[in-house]
Amino acid sequence: MAHEKLFAELGLQPENGEIKVFSPIDGTEIGRIGYDRDAVVNAKIALAAEAFQAWRLVPAPKRGELVRLLGEELRAAKEPLGRLVSLECGKILAEGLGEVQEMIDICDFAIGQSRQLYGLTIASERPGHRMMETWHPLGPIGVISAFNFPVAVWAWNFALAIVCGDPVIWKPSEKTPLCALACQNIFARAAARFNDAPEGLMQVVLGGANAGAQLVADTRLPLISATGSCRMGALVGPVVAERFGRSLLELGGNNAMIVTASADLELAVRAILFSAVGTAGQRCTSLRRLIVQDGIAEELTARLKSAYAAIPVGDPLADGTLVGPLIDGAAYEAMKNALATARTEGGTVTGGERLLSNDYPDAYYVRPAIAEMPAQTNVVRAETFAPILYVMRYSDLDAAIHMHNDVAQGLASSIFTNDMREAEAFLAAPGSDCGIANVNIGPSGAEIGGAFGGEKETGGGRESGSDAWKAYMRRATNTINYSTELPLAQGIRFEV
Ligand code: NAD
Repeated sequence: MAHEKLFAELGLQPENGEIKVFSPIDGTEIGRIGYDRDAVVNAKIALAAEAFQAWRLVPAPKRGELVRLLGEELRAAKEPLGRLVSLECGKILAEGLGEVQEMIDICDFAIGQSRQLYGLTIASERPGHRMMETWHPLGPIGVISAFNFPVAVWAWNFALAIVCGDPVIWKPSEKTPLCALACQNIFARAAARFNDAPEGLMQVVLGGANAGAQLVADTRLPLISATGSCRMGALVGPVVAERFGRSLLELGGNNAMIVTASADLELAVRAILFSAVGTAGQRCTSLRRLIVQDGIAEELTARLKSAYAAIPVGDPLADGTLVGPLIDGAAYEAMKNALATARTEGGTVTGGERLLSNDYPDAYYVRPAIAEMPAQTNVVRAETFAPILYVMRYSDLDAAIHMHNDVAQGLASSIFTNDMREAEAFLAAPGSDCGIANVNIGPSGAEIGGAFGGEKETGGGRESGSDAWKAYMRRATNTINYSTELPLAQGIRFEV
């Protein structure tokens, strides 16, 4: 097997099972795995519930120590894990390594958080009383993840869940199971060094949508954190709500950038390139819509077209490549169809053709596409998970912001401007309606320190930094009476 050394470093032996795993780099089979049957999933949920009983009793800073050890193991495994991310999901090695770095960063963040699970102290209206809030562990968490961030999304959830006292069951994308098994092995090394971590703190469930649906429906999992398409979120959300569970939904985006007349075009071109073609347009935060002021549209589009023509597309593990393959043939079909629709809706398309099909007949490399549109038509409003950048023009900033917000999704956004009034208008309440709004940087590539997520059909969930940890805990409000009286709130008298 060609990947023996890499698999050995990560403790992987994907040789048993009926399910074939393919690399998008060349479409070859890189391993075989088995899916978990319903009964096995059920047993894993039971084990997680048992682990919760023990783990919630461990002091939070000690739980943080386990995450510290995980961070060390991730540092040691950064190179092979980053390489596996490239091999299994096709992003370039620099981005594969960057994804592992993000895991290390969130571990560092969570270790600090483990000593800061603060509640408030609240002034009571009653004499001799004190009020406070306490944050307690919530329970075992179900994590469902997408193919395009095959390791980081788990880590964002896991590092915080573990310090908050919650075991995690992870159903990775069926397109990237090996990455999940590698993470399981890396965590096992950390757990062995920790010494008394209960069994079942980190489990992987292998399977497709059905396995995910089994987690979603199970009342033993009080929180389901699901990352993927809006279509998936629309199925998951109501099922969790019906059983009064909590869901943290991280769904699709349709991210835009407004470029105003005062913008630094040199910076804008670089930011657009990374945001729109990086990860072959397969980030939830990828730039998909460019809304450009009339007077600079000609020049900006021309500069983008020449940058697009020169961008190196190819093997993501080779030096110098900036754009790897699409995940599979279905993604290529979706891109082709979207570009055909863009043309029928009056667009002019540059690029978008399939590349390297002689070298890689079973893989799908494309030239990223620019589609100049007469207006924000239907195809522009949909998230096509491929490197298509729709370009529209505007003359009035209010109209540009209206166009920006006039889509169903609300994840990431940005404005390029050197005009303070324009920047502030974009960030103000009537400005961008997204969960992420940036000035003079692109919409993609967020740092872990901020809360990550979006509004509208993006699902409303927030994970990673800031106070996202609160989603993984339950809040108790405590009122303590240290007086010899029993005054009731709101002055109510209730005495016989
Ligand atoms: P997908 O929706 O096809 O699959 C995501 C996960 O959901 C997979 O693990 C899949 O097995 C599972 N799933 C599908 N149907 C399910 C169901 N009914 N019940 C339970 N689980 C189910 O998404 P994908 O193609 O893997 O990823 C691309 C999508 O993910 C894009 O829309 C992208 O924008 C989005 N995404 C969002 C974020 C974010 O943080 N907002 C991050 C990464 C990706």
